[in-house]
Formats: sequence, C-alpha cells, structure tokens
Amino acid sequence: LPPLPSNAPVGRLSDGTFSRYAGSTKFSELPMSKKTLDGLKKSDYVSMTEIQRASLPHALCGRDILGAAKTGSGKTLAFVIPVLEKLHRERWGHEDGVGSIIISPTRELAGQLFDVLKAVGRYHNFSAGLLIGGRKEIDTEKERVNELNILVCTPGRLLQHMDETLNFDCSQVQVLVLDEADRILDVGFKKTLNAIISQLPKHRQTLLFSATQTKSIQDLARLSLKDPEYVGVHEKS
Ligand code: ADP
Ligand code: MG
Repeated sequence: LPPLPSNAPVGRLSDGTFSRYAGSTKFSELPMSKKTLDGLKKSDYVSMTEIQRASLPHALCGRDILGAAKTGSGKTLAFVIPVLEKLHRERWGHEDGVGSIIISPTRELAGQLFDVLKAVGRYHNFSAGLLIGGRKEIDTEKERVNELNILVCTPGRLLQHMDETLNFDCSQVQVLVLDEADRILDVGFKKTLNAIISQLPKHRQTLLFSATQTKSIQDLARLSLKDPEYVGVHEKS
C-alpha cells in the first residue's frame, strides 16, 4: 500500500480504505459499483480531474468534504459519484424515500447537475427530481416529493417544501451536498441554508464544494460539516 501522507491525523491511520485508493488516476481504480462505472464509461468519463482525484477516495469512505476548486474543474462528479455509491451501498429503494439532497444556487446550475446525475446514474434505479421553483406546479411536486430518492434543488424551493409540504420526510437523508456554496451565500441564502440544515438528520455525510474559500464558507463549514477533509485544488491552466 502507498504510505499515508505524514500529516494524516492519527485517528485515520487505521483506515486503510483511503490509503489504498489515494494514488488512483482513473475512475475504474476506485471502489465503486459497476452501475456507476458503466454510467461514467457511457458518458466518456475515464480519467479523473485533480479535484476528483483528491476528494473521491475520502468521500467514498464516508467522510465529509470541504472542497475548493475553480469553476470548470469537475466538482459535479466529485459529489454525484459519492451520492450514488452511498445509496447503492445502503441498498436504497423507492420505498425508502429521500436519501440525498443536493442544493445548488440557481435553477440553471441545478438543471445542469441534474443532467449529469441522470447520465452517470442511468444504470441505477433511484428516482430523482429537480425542485427549482417556477418550473412546475408546486402541488404536483408536493404529491411526489416523498417518492423521490435524490432531490436536486434550489434553497428556496427546498425550504418551501419543508415548510408547506405535508409529511415531507427528510429524516432519512444520508448525504447532503452543498454545490457552489459560495454562490449560494452570494445570492443571499444564508438564513435559508441554516434553516434547511437545522431540519436534516445530524447523522449524515455532507459534501460542501465551492470555487472560493471565504470567511462565510468557513462559517457554513463549521455549521454543516463534521471533521471534514479539506481538499483544495488550483490547477494550472
Ligand atoms: P465545476 O462544477 O467545477 O465548475 P463541472 O463539474 O461542471 O465543473 O465540470 C466542468 C466540465 O468538465 C464539464 O463539461 C464536465 O463534463 C467536464 N468533466 C468533469 N469531469 C471530467 C472528467 N473526469 N473527464 C472529462 N471531462 C470531465
Ligand atoms: Mg459546478
């Protein structure tokens, strides 16, 4: 096995999972289901980008992630893959309800990441829904939202469901993703995010990705992450 970095916290030395996969460069070298690997292959994703290489070995062994990497570096797959794998390992099914919530700052970005989720997750049987406000009647969403396994949403629409949807159940959420977190805060969603996080189960995995590291991202990290792995990547272009 390749040695752990010398600055690795002592508590993690016994965890062989990370060290075994730390040097991987291709998705196929990581421990993941054939369904996800086939989905990646079908979309022509073979080699990992830097942020994916740095974060996936940690995220796939269940750790919280605070990831910073600039726009275009491939952050979407760095959380879509762990979401699919966590639910796959838990043998999540339709009747298990909402297992993962992915929050994105804008309708447009939410739509884009939803497309990636659908493409890479095509061989899984999870149900996923895009809850972005304005797009569909909220009443139709309210009837269906508990049947969805993965929610991709803007903060306002998610909080609206938490406030208004009868029996909306997010008590079993396994993985929370905060994508483009700096932009979520820029758009003025700090309070909304805090309200959302306070309603989610404490025992969960949280993946927080951002293009920049600011004071407000640190605050959000303190509020939402447990013993996170810090992954910062600044690729030369
Ligand atoms: P970010 O969220 O960091 O801005 P994205 O996840 O949107 O970046 O990815 C940026 C672009 O790079 C997308 O077009 C995506 O398809 C592509 N991409 C991401 N990961 C890979 C990869 N491993 N191999 C090839 N292309 C990739
Ligand atoms: Mg992105």
